[in-house]
Amino acid sequence: MSQREWIEKDFYKELGVSSTATPDEIKKAYRKLARDLHPDSNPGDTKAEERFKTVSEANAVLSDPAKRKEYDETRRLFAGGGAGGYGRGGGFSPGGGGGFSQEFNINDIFGQAGAGDGGLGDLFGGLFNRSGGGRAATRPRRGSDVETETTLGFREAAQGVTVPLRMTSPSPCTTCHGSGAKPGTSPRVCPHCNGAGVVNRNQGAFGFSEPCDDCRGTGSIIDDPCTDCSGTGIQNRTRTITVRIPPGVSDGQKIRLAGQGEAGLRGAPSGDLFVTVHVSQDKVFGRQGDDLTLVLPVSYSELVLGTTVSVPTLDGRVGVKVPPGTADGRTLRVRGRGVPKRGAAGGAGDLLVTVKVAVPQSLDAEATEALKKYQEAEKAAGYDPRSGWAGA
Ligand SMILES: [Zn+2]
Ligand SMILES: [Zn+2]
Repeated sequence: MSQREWIEKDFYKELGVSSTATPDEIKKAYRKLARDLHPDSNPGDTKAEERFKTVSEANAVLSDPAKRKEYDETRRLFAGGGAGGYGRGGGFSPGGGGGFSQEFNINDIFGQAGAGDGGLGDLFGGLFNRSGGGRAATRPRRGSDVETETTLGFREAAQGVTVPLRMTSPSPCTTCHGSGAKPGTSPRVCPHCNGAGVVNRNQGAFGFSEPCDDCRGTGSIIDDPCTDCSGTGIQNRTRTITVRIPPGVSDGQKIRLAGQGEAGLRGAPSGDLFVTVHVSQDKVFGRQGDDLTLVLPVSYSELVLGTTVSVPTLDGRVGVKVPPGTADGRTLRVRGRGVPKRGAAGGAGDLLVTVKVAVPQSLDAEATEALKKYQEAEKAAGYDPRSGWAGA
């Protein structure tokens, strides 16, 4: 099991124990769950089977003091926003990174296929290649970072979603395999610099190296350029990658995917991909961090007498109790029904319901009569809405 999976999974939650549970408590919780969920007692129940596996997995880590310690530390690191510290590519910060409020390395968390592992292989490949060439121009160079953006629906962003991203980026020309020379021909070594790409010049006591003019520093000359890439050896190629966006991203947030940028030159590691996420508005919900907000239309009498109203949540509905005598504009809090929280802590923000009186534009005779009667009764009872008002 990898660190990535550790970050995604809350083993404590799976076992229904607190993160400070004693080994004994963990053992007890596991035994009970294992008994309840065991495939023998739940034949054909795939859900129970899944849970049984998850619970066993959780127990395997939490019942081993060394593993549990490592697990706790891994998750603590992630919860602290130190995502840059995972795996390869940690600590890299893109140029002009101002305004990245919450940047984290989604790749290291969710394990995009081949990204992290391929990088290491590439790196070694680059080292081996180099031993043969020895020319300045063939030194491996890390691929450039690539930026792209995607727009998510409000609920997708809140709950997490997997999206395909179409990306256009330069990659080696397939016709000439990146050489830039027409198929059947090959670049020849630049005679001026002998393929070094640089020439030495002596000026007084100092020796200078400068890029070779004849080959523009590449070390080779192409007599017959490839027509598909005009001799550059590079073509723009479109590829689609699937990206898992975790729950709780907010509008404008930038996400980093290590190793999904441009391919490195001559076997060097690839650059990173930065995805700026735009979140579209929702008709019902707004967001304040992890809290979900909504405005609930109510009648005056509902506020005075109190009521319970069913309101939507991200995954269903919930009854909100409006206590008698609730002031217009008051915000009622429904705990834990907001946006899922990122990171190890888990849980969700709150749902904030703000009541707003809807005033009827017309009433039938009966209701108007009743309201007039009410108004008189209110006066008779001595209620003055402007008592205590500074403008009275
Ligand atoms: Zn070409
Ligand atoms: Zn040259």
